[in-house]
Amino acid sequence: MERQHDAVLRTVAERNVRFVRLWFCDVVGTLKSIAISPEDLESAFDEGIGFDGSTIEGLTRAYESDMLLRPDPATFQLLPWRGETEGTARMMCDVLTPDGEPAASDPRRVLKDALARAEAKGLELYLHPEIEFYLFREPYQSGEPLVPIDSAGYFDHVHKGAGKDFRRTAIQYLEQMNIQVEYSHHENGPGQNEIDLRYTDALTAADNILTFRTVVKEVALTMGQSATFMPKPMIEHPGSGMHTHLSLFQGGKNAFHEPGAEYGLSRLARQFIAGLLRHAPEYCALTNQFVNSYKRLWGAQEAPSYVTWGHNNRSALVRVPFHKPTKGTSSRIEFRGADSACNPYLAFAALLSAGMAGIEGEYELPEGAEDTVWELTERERRAMGIEPLPSDLYRALEVFEGSELMASVLGEQVFEYFLRNKHQEWQRYREQVTPQELSTTFHLI
Ligand code: GLU
Ligand code: MG
Ligand code: MG
Repeated sequence: MERQHDAVLRTVAERNVRFVRLWFCDVVGTLKSIAISPEDLESAFDEGIGFDGSTIEGLTRAYESDMLLRPDPATFQLLPWRGETEGTARMMCDVLTPDGEPAASDPRRVLKDALARAEAKGLELYLHPEIEFYLFREPYQSGEPLVPIDSAGYFDHVHKGAGKDFRRTAIQYLEQMNIQVEYSHHENGPGQNEIDLRYTDALTAADNILTFRTVVKEVALTMGQSATFMPKPMIEHPGSGMHTHLSLFQGGKNAFHEPGAEYGLSRLARQFIAGLLRHAPEYCALTNQFVNSYKRLWGAQEAPSYVTWGHNNRSALVRVPFHKPTKGTSSRIEFRGADSACNPYLAFAALLSAGMAGIEGEYELPEGAEDTVWELTERERRAMGIEPLPSDLYRALEVFEGSELMASVLGEQVFEYFLRNKHQEWQRYREQVTPQELSTTFHLI
């Protein structure tokens, strides 16, 4: 059988590809890219391509700046927007140390390890993300007012809408890159859109999300717009969540499904949800990694602020979607906490590990909440044992820092790099005097 990387070499020759981009990401999930020419592909597969990792946030310690990138041939795709002739392709890469070992600091490695731990127990994670984002007029310059491309709302059909043209092109590009789209629609906020990807294994999903963000930004720019995955660009409008539908498969069967059980949910699924709930404050810094993330979580507009689960409850952190009893394979749970700006490798590794802790520890699933949690009083919530999510990045980091589960999921290096990066972000945030402080305090005393 032709090896996968021979197939890549053949396609590169046949399609006369001019550049191959090697993609990877830093600790916060920013896409990084090194272009090589096709002549260097063979050695990239065999030995990896050397690069200086010291300038990449969270990738190396100062004394070990030389790193290697090894492309994953299964991820080879042409970039549709670079044209057919003398085109450009990309592959997602693993980061290696100079002696060819997986680099402890590589976020993709963190997810691979978490998946391998679940696989050792016969469980495979499948998921599909619903990715929300905003489109604004003109390429955005820092400090300028944000002007959304339309003033439409949820599911609106906008005549001659720029958003529709945008979605059409973006989806065509995604499909050309073998990223299958389930559906897309206008979201609640002005200029806010959502594109849902089809179910894949978790590693492919994380690779796809990195690619997705690039495609969306690329298409927006060619249309004279700016796209952002920032969790809450405008305080008065909904934030951009990345609801993630998860299920575990065992021996080719959906292990979350049990015919006849409540909501069709198996005991394993209930334990998994219980794990997601119990460890939510610990992994929140990963699913919601920016100062701005907490403005979404605490800004209502259908973002969860409390650790609850429910069936048809859109204020819940975990929702069990409507389930057709005949569709056993579609049993799944929707995690509504993550935002569109998370590092998907780290976020998925954290969610899987929290769920696995629930399975291994046989956690009992607390009572579900069918009421809108926001409408309860603080006392009612306390009486029902409903805990809040961390209210800001600093509090999230405090819990994260004390979590043995998170330290073991990420490994010491990523755990420390992440904390360092995030404490710096918090510090810079604190060092400001905001317009709100000026307007409320200047004349007050
Ligand atoms: N934009 C909302 C959020 O921040 C979600 C809206 C929806 O239910 O799709 O999570
Ligand atoms: Mg949505
Ligand atoms: Mg949803």
